[in-house]
Formats: sequence, C-alpha cells, structure tokens
Amino acid sequence: MKENKMEKITSLCKRRGFIFQTADIYGGMQGVYDYGPLGVELANNIKQSWWQAMIYQRDDIEGLDSSILGSQDIFSQSGHEDTFSDPMVDCKSCGERFRADQVPDYCKKEDLTEPRDFNLMFKTNIGPVDDGTSTAYLRPETAQHIFINFKNVLDSTSRTLPFGIAQIGKAFRNEITARNFIFRKREFEQMEMEYFVDPKDDEKFHSYWIEERMKWWLNQGLKEENLELLSVPKNELSHYSKATTDIMYKFPHGTEELEGIANRTDFDLGSHTKSQEEFKIRAKVKTNNTSKAKLAYQDKVSNEWLIPYVIEPSAGVERAFLAILNDAYKEEELENNTKRIVLSLKKHLSPVKIAVIPLKKNVEDIVKKAIEIKNSLLNLNIGRISVENTGNIGKSYRKHDEIGTPICITVDYDTIEKNMVTFRDRDTMEQTSVSLDNLEQEVIEIFQDK
Ligand code: ATP
Repeated sequence: MKENKMEKITSLCKRRGFIFQTADIYGGMQGVYDYGPLGVELANNIKQSWWQAMIYQRDDIEGLDSSILGSQDIFSQSGHEDTFSDPMVDCKSCGERFRADQVPDYCKKEDLTEPRDFNLMFKTNIGPVDDGTSTAYLRPETAQHIFINFKNVLDSTSRTLPFGIAQIGKAFRNEITARNFIFRKREFEQMEMEYFVDPKDDEKFHSYWIEERMKWWLNQGLKEENLELLSVPKNELSHYSKATTDIMYKFPHGTEELEGIANRTDFDLGSHTKSQEEFKIRAKVKTNNTSKAKLAYQDKVSNEWLIPYVIEPSAGVERAFLAILNDAYKEEELENNTKRIVLSLKKHLSPVKIAVIPLKKNVEDIVKKAIEIKNSLLNLNIGRISVENTGNIGKSYRKHDEIGTPICITVDYDTIEKNMVTFRDRDTMEQTSVSLDNLEQEVIEIFQDK
C-alpha cells in the first residue's frame, strides 16, 4: 500500500470532494488547489483546533488577521527582497527547471546550467500607475505583518513578556517546483505564532515550544513513529535564525518539514523599528530610515527598553491536512471478503460529525423525523450534521467511512413506532439502539471523548 499511498489519498480527495485542482477545466494551474465541500470543513477544523490550543486554552497569546498585501518597505526591511530566493537550474537535456537541491537523478550534471537566484515573492503594484514606487507583495509568510503590528497589539492589550501574537492566513510563494500534491503549493496557508520573550530566556522558550507543538500534532491523530525532530544545521539556517528545529513528518513521498520552530532573535523587531541605534540589537539588521515606531518593550521592573527575542512555531495548513489524511487513511478487509476504506479522523477534525440516514427515502414520516433529529442535534454546536437521503444504507455507510464521519444515525420504522434510532460507529462498525429521549446526551458523551 505504501508505494501508491499518495495516489490513493489524491484520488479520495477528488472523488469525495476534499481537494480539486484549481482551473482543472482549463488544464489546471500547477501548485494551486481549491478545497471542496469536505476539504473546507477539514481545513477549518484544523485551524480551529490550532486557534483553540494557541489562544483560547492559554492566556498569553492574542490573535490577529492582517492584510495579505504588504508594502515594499516591509519586505525590503525584512530581508525578503534580497534573500528570499532559491537557486534555480535548467536542465538542457529534458528542458525542465529545478530547485538546485532538488534535481532528479535522471538529469546529468553536465546538462545543468549554473544556479541562478530566483526570488519567490509574487510582486504586484498598488493603484493604477506602475511607476516603480507603488510596488507591493503578496506576503510570503504571515509573520512580517505580526511584527509590524507589535506596537499596536502591545499598546492595546498592555501585555507583559512573555506574550505571543498568532495568525492564520494565506501566504504566497512562487515555488520553482511545486509538487507532491498539496505538500508544496504556490498559494497556501500558514498557522504562525510569534512569541516575544526576554532575550535571556530565548533558549528556554524555544525548547518549550518544540514540546508544546509536538503534543498538538499528536492530539491531531498523527502517529508518533511518523514524527521526528530535526535540528537544522547552522549553515542551512535562514538569515534571521539563531536556531531552528523542524518537526519532520513521514509524508507518502518522503520525510519532510511539517512545521518549523525558529529562534528569530531580535532580527524582526530590530529590522522594523525606528531609532535602531538606541537599542543593543544583536542581529545583523538593515538600517531603517522609514519606520515610524519603536518596536521595543519597557521592562516593568528595571524600566529599561529592550527589543524582545522571538520564538516562532510556523506550520502549514496543507501539510497538516496531508499528514492527518495520511495517518487516518486505512483499508480494511472485512469478513465477507470485501474491503472498506476508512478515515479514522479524530472527531474534532471530521468534516461531517454525524450523518442522519433515513432507511427509506420515500417514506415521508421517516424522512421528516430524520430532518427533525438533525435540527435538534445542530443545537449542540458540534459541527456539520447532514441528512443522507439516498435510500441506500450500505452505500451511505461506505461513503461516511471514507470521509471519516464518526457516527451514522439510522432512522427507520422503529423510530416512528418505538422512538428508537440506530447508532453505527465508524471505527468498530458496531450498531446500538438508542432511545430518542437520550439522543442528545448520548451524542454529547461521544463527542466529549476525543
Ligand atoms: P521548505 O523547506 O519545505 O520549502 P520552508 O522551510 O521554506 O519549507 P517555512 O518558511 O519555515 O518553510 O514555512 C513554515 C511552514 O509553512 C512550513 O513548515 C510548511 O508547513 C509551510 N509551507 C512553507 N512553504 C510551503 C508551500 N510552498 N506549500 C505548502 N506549505 C508550505
């Protein structure tokens, strides 16, 4: 099963409406995808779970939702204009273009051009005149907009160190080789949190966040044996980083980065602050003559101003999506020599929480009752509940196994006559009778147990 697991996941995603390639009716765009009806639910559930863990379950992190467009000043000061590039080579034999570190074995060294730097940012301009002074970028990471809002958030919330600002949103990179389904896209989403700390505490909080993030991934159902930590070698660190640990995951195409946790030092706030000379900025930053704010923090005890260090856990929604599907996907042989595909998703991630299935699609009383049950369960606010009125119970179970619906509730004559429904569990396929009097309680209990 291992060899073509990616194909199986890709096929399930298309067949059941998780992911579609953008503009497939025009031949598709490489590295750009759309979430279908179930994909949008799963992606939203992943993001919600991250937001819960990063903001609601803590008291030291604030949320933000900034613009996607960013001015040239931002990305000039951040170093992206100068250094956010990958070396690119062309193969004269096959005519294809590759990132220099990703050339496939079938290309011979002598056929490759010298590596050239290729900036990954998408450039545009603001307003009707493109005279070189109106350049803007689609942000290549959400982080910079967090840094430029540091003072706004600090002043409006009166936070003390350590504290964080979190944001989920789109990022754009003109990747040289976008491939491996949604693993490397040109438009993707990041879940990023910048944690501002006293410089003397940076290493302690770096270790702390590596541990916290590992726990979160395990809570999303990823298998421990598919996760590992990689301490990025010094010569491969990004220009802003003192140390980075990547959470690596065994994707179907190989072990690659799922999340990066970087110690960005005082590089970012130091780059975007005015009056740089007033602070002891340890990172090597570009002179800033345009910023209008000091991005510093006044220590409550010593009254001294300092530029905090930043610890950044940064994860991709699509890589989370792919890893979660990969670990949830199962093919099971059943007793009657048939096979079923099951997505054993954690309940909080399932796109559909409950399918209510009328046994007969043309019996009005049964269908009406199913709709009533759905509406009453909706009040529990557990997520999407759908009425599956196909009239084919076997097919409905198969579909909901494949999309990871934890519970199917079947409505039949017993429901009308005896007030009883049948619960079917996705993982065990066990069926139990439940009285409508206990319905809500039963559902609450099932969904409390993560
Ligand atoms: P890679 O080395 O794989 O290109 P990166 O080190 O450039 O990744 P970061 O800049 O650290 O990635 O971005 C943080 C996170 O954003 C990554 O861990 C990943 O989950 C996600 N991410 C980055 N680039 C992409 C992309 N092109 N498509 C999908 N997700 C991405």
